[in-house]
Amino acid sequence: MEFISVIFAHLFTMESEPKISFEDTSIAFSYKSDTELKKAHFIFSLVNHPWISLIATGAVRLGFNLGLPIEGLIKKTVFYHFCGGESIDKTKEALERLAKYSIGTILDYSVEGEKTEEGFENTTIETILTIEKAHQSKDIPFCVFKVTGIASTQLLEKIHSKEDLSSEEKLAYEKVQERVNRICHKAFEYNIPVLVDAEETWIQDPIDTLAYDMMKKYNSEKAIVFNTFQLYRTASLQNLKDAFQKSEGENYHIGAKLVRGAYMEKERESAEKLGYPSPIQPNKEASDKAFNEALEFCMANKHRVSIMCGSHNEYSNQYLTQLMAEHGIANNDERFWFAQLYGMSDNISFNLARAGYRVAKYVPYGPVKSVMPYLLRRAAENTSVAGQSSRELLLIRKELRRRKEKV
Ligand SMILES: Cc1cc2nc3c(=O)[nH]c(=O)nc-3n(C[C@H](O)[C@H](O)[C@H](O)COP(=O)(O)OP(=O)(O)OC[C@H]3O[C@@H](n4cnc5c(N)ncnc54)[C@H](O)[C@@H]3O)c2cc1C
Repeated sequence: MEFISVIFAHLFTMESEPKISFEDTSIAFSYKSDTELKKAHFIFSLVNHPWISLIATGAVRLGFNLGLPIEGLIKKTVFYHFCGGESIDKTKEALERLAKYSIGTILDYSVEGEKTEEGFENTTIETILTIEKAHQSKDIPFCVFKVTGIASTQLLEKIHSKEDLSSEEKLAYEKVQERVNRICHKAFEYNIPVLVDAEETWIQDPIDTLAYDMMKKYNSEKAIVFNTFQLYRTASLQNLKDAFQKSEGENYHIGAKLVRGAYMEKERESAEKLGYPSPIQPNKEASDKAFNEALEFCMANKHRVSIMCGSHNEYSNQYLTQLMAEHGIANNDERFWFAQLYGMSDNISFNLARAGYRVAKYVPYGPVKSVMPYLLRRAAENTSVAGQSSRELLLIRKELRRRKEKV
């Protein structure tokens, strides 16, 4: 009897195995000309070497601090590889190119750590413009914002650590709540889901609270507001489960963008410096395990949870396609999204889109100087570990070789 059930289990697993491969670089880079591919090769070769990457990013920081005219150089190299342009209108070309391959664009106004009320208001207005743009375009399935673009980091830190606020700070926080509500209300009005990005742990509690307040208000029919869960944090899987319990009790939908997390070094350094236990998983395997468990949890609760798998990890993306197959979910079910960053992991995005899954890419835009923190994070992410070439570089080389042999 046990033997028969093993055979059945095996057959079921075989049936539900994903049929998608991420190896086809001709699909992955179909939208890139030879010149663009060679440029991508140059960029990834550069950031691949840890010491070159360190010197280059240090020089860029210094250049900006000294007011040197380096914007032109950045535009000619990394900017257009990772960003859509300097304004919404200038992202048109990137948007159309992705749309041609059934990949949606998520316009990401990449201005972080604003400091003035005027700056916060500008970011709010700009984010609302992205929602209006999405309303007019079938190729923009989501919008996104970072709370540090519309609120003071110091204020968020104080709220996170439950410090008393002065009356001025209370007023400032009311304005933050109003801005978040203005963005989410517009998203709700136009039926465009909006993603709230996750940031550093020492400001994340108020970000979560703002996101849940908005979910309660706007997610009664479907997930319009998505919060982000960083699975490199030891607390995140439980936070996801708690958020789900709360939504069950209060009867609204959860939008869950799952990511591993982008601030690991900073988090560990801060924990060490200030002498508190690191909030980050002890190793990569633990982050991977938590990520995949989060996918399983969301899938098991799909009656109430919509997922965005925000990852460049091939296994995690494969695993979601596998879970979808096991649960009998169509590839194009609108509750399940795969998302990558513009200029990265095209092998995943383009192959998934070709197989009929819902795929979107964050397309950052904004003035060159303002998107530098974003670009520096991408440089760090693509630096090789232990002398190995990054996956991105290997794929670009494979495609360059393929094109050369074809000629
Ligand atoms: C669409 C999208 C949206 C995103 N939004 C956010 C966001 O809102 N907030 C945010 O923080 N990030 C965000 N990110 C960035 C994301 O967190 C990084 O791209 C991601 O961490 C890289 O991981 P990966 O899933 O692509 O897989 P991999 O490349 O397999 O994993 C790398 C990640 O694993 C984790 N890791 C690596 N080594 C260790 C270790 N020793 N111990 C513990 N963990 C380890 C780190 O998080 C590291 O970045 C987003 C990414 C995408 C694609």
